Amino acid sequence: MAQHILLNGSVRTIKAGVNADDAIASLQAKGHTVEKIKSPPGIKTLERWVSEGDCKATDGCRCDPDGTCEHGKKSWLLVLGMI
Ligand SMILES: [Zn+2]
Repeated sequence: MAQHILLNGSVRTIKAGVNADDAIASLQAKGHTVEKIKSPPGIKTLERWVSEGDCKATDGCRCDPDGTCEHGKKSWLLVLGMI
């Protein structure tokens, strides 16, 4: 399964065969803000969250669709640029 990271606030997929930890360390060494995240939710899940009026943050916490969780992680809708 593909690994995902947040690179300077944007979701990126680590290429197959690339060690995610090595890639993150290399990007951080170049001064980028990098964070390992879970796979982004699918469009159906995002639509359900919107219809229910809430969302999940990139660390899996519940949060406001346009907000952050208690750990300061942004909602998936914000990260994916959907709101
Ligand atoms: Zn959280």
